[in-house]
Amino acid sequence: MSHVLHRSLLQDYPVAVKGDGVYIIDADNKRYLDACGGAAVSCLGHSDPDVIQAIQQQVSQLAYAHSSFFTTEPMEALAEFLAKRAPGHLNSVYFVSGGSEAVEAALKLARQYYVEKGEPQRKHIIARRQSYHGNTLGALATGGNLWRRQQFEPLLINIHHLSPCYAYREKLEHESDDAFVTRLVDELEDKILELGADQVMAFIAEPVVGATLGAVPAVGRYFEKMKAVCEKYGVLLIADEVMCGMGRTGALFASAQENLVPDLLCIAKGLGAGYQPIGATLVSDDIINTLKSGSGFFQHGHTYIGHATACAAALAVQHKIEDAQLLSNVEAMGTQLQQALLHQFKDHPHIGDIRGKGLFRGLELVKDRETKAPFDSGLKLHAKIKKAAMNQGLMCYPMGGTINGRDGDHILLAPPFIFNEEHIDELVTKLSVAIDHALKVS
Ligand code: PMP
Repeated sequence: MSHVLHRSLLQDYPVAVKGDGVYIIDADNKRYLDACGGAAVSCLGHSDPDVIQAIQQQVSQLAYAHSSFFTTEPMEALAEFLAKRAPGHLNSVYFVSGGSEAVEAALKLARQYYVEKGEPQRKHIIARRQSYHGNTLGALATGGNLWRRQQFEPLLINIHHLSPCYAYREKLEHESDDAFVTRLVDELEDKILELGADQVMAFIAEPVVGATLGAVPAVGRYFEKMKAVCEKYGVLLIADEVMCGMGRTGALFASAQENLVPDLLCIAKGLGAGYQPIGATLVSDDIINTLKSGSGFFQHGHTYIGHATACAAALAVQHKIEDAQLLSNVEAMGTQLQQALLHQFKDHPHIGDIRGKGLFRGLELVKDRETKAPFDSGLKLHAKIKKAAMNQGLMCYPMGGTINGRDGDHILLAPPFIFNEEHIDELVTKLSVAIDHALKVS
């Protein structure tokens, strides 16, 4: 009997014992093609020798030093690496242990910025429905995934949710992309005016929606226009790139592809590629300067901020991705993956949409392609697909919760950046078998 409190209390999990490039091997020597990086984490694949060496070297030199006593070389080097490549004036980096912590830090920085700026009345945060920003209470409140937040409702802070930029379901028939974007941008402006032009502190969004919708990119100039409205009313824009950032969409920062310079930018997952737990919040000069001339202090903190071994691992991961020019492979293989998915599934009666950017792709399952009606949530189709895929030796990331929290199923694909054509063939073949099997037993 396992004494681990796993997410599912009813399920038995295979024991993962070894990593080998794009494969994970279990205790029975079964190989699983990792086509989702867990949850878009393992972007460099498993057991990379250079990253292992960097970790070994750092651990033997200094594993950890508390950030209220010291800075460390890997922390400084990683911050410099990120700041030099980040959009605009995001020149300061706050290191944490994961995505939820990165979002919490961003929310608290936004609040402290306005308190120290002399605008403490700015308390409101605007986010979008069908988004996910983490599982700690603040981050959970910010996200709009009903299934995840429902039962914690009385504990959550009050956030105002707008429509997501989710063309497949939110764009009206005969509505142009421009008209769709204008409608969403107007919704933001209306919400700010409803709450009070000087009452809102931040708007938060994922540049490409990950866990809740399955790789949904924005339409047209959506983010540029949303940012313009935020600037008009002094609302900070927080880009949550925890899942879509660090090269997943083909650029190091997904915001840059949207011509967006956010005020705060959250990263995690691909930053350390799973070799160590690490996340970060990138912060604009304006926010830093306000705090510097105010309290001179960020009123926050965790024990493992800037963990030296985690920073050394992330630095090695990022150098490897850059030196091997893996982001061009993300673009090339991303295009190829999309084509292979279209080829395999475009006429499938139950695949309604195939979408994404780079090596971040999603398939939405529907009962009826004409009406886009989802499957009954009671069928738990996504769970059946995951099980069938694992039986096939394939890790993909199916999820429910597309519409109104629970209904609707989609599959997220986020393979390592070292993926090649053979891996794509293996993925599509196994995925097709898994989907059809799950549909048959539903
Ligand atoms: N933001 C986004 C966009 C995410 O996808 C996730 C994780 N799926 C988080 C935040 C939370 O990250 P973590 O699980 O590392 O706390």
